[in-house]
Amino acid sequence: MSKNILHQTSWAKSVNGNDIELFSSETKNDSPILFIGGVHGDEPEGVKLAQDLLIWLQKNNTFVNPQALEPWMLIPCLNIDGFMIKQRMNAAGVDLNRNFPSRDWSAAAKSPRYFPGPHPGSEPEVSALVTLIESTKPKLIVHFHSWEPCIVYTGSPGKNAAELIGKDTGYAISEDIGYPTPGSLGQFGWLEKAVPVICIEAQEGADLDSLWPTFGSGLKNLLTKDAREKLEL
Ligand SMILES: [Zn+2]
Repeated sequence: MSKNILHQTSWAKSVNGNDIELFSSETKNDSPILFIGGVHGDEPEGVKLAQDLLIWLQKNNTFVNPQALEPWMLIPCLNIDGFMIKQRMNAAGVDLNRNFPSRDWSAAAKSPRYFPGPHPGSEPEVSALVTLIESTKPKLIVHFHSWEPCIVYTGSPGKNAAELIGKDTGYAISEDIGYPTPGSLGQFGWLEKAVPVICIEAQEGADLDSLWPTFGSGLKNLLTKDAREKLEL
């Protein structure tokens, strides 16, 4: 069933030395789509959605039929330490989504929950992800969070993909989450690497079993050939 999938059980280590897993199609070096769950440890909806997508990929990953999938990579839970204790930040108290080395990184934080770290890219979870992005050059990054329901893309080339994911979900799609996010993955991906980034904010507190029925169709379309041609990604 799950052929052609690479599984790195310890792709990177967290601050506390826990393993961070990475799954990828064998064609990962061919401009993959990179999916990431668990950037924030207190958002179980994002981890569940990444896990559900992985289950679907494990059942359907193949490169021999006309419905061939896009090359992909998937990190089920980037902030494994925070996830274990239901904390937004990593074990060093850093908001990983403010720690990326983008040109707008700022040492200012509106509250401790958004502490950006001592310097850009200071956290091992972030530096491992930066290295992965630089070495594999993804064409698109999608990360899964939870908050007020919305789908936000950073970088206009991500608009089509965001609309494809959001189709029939009832989620609003926008290019701006409504407040500055210096040092975020979106800012890093687009400003520094010209990779469009999509942030899915699932409804906070949603029934975890409702997430795949909501987003599965759009994510499947994003990954399949027909949709890829429509996207011109
Ligand atoms: Zn989040």
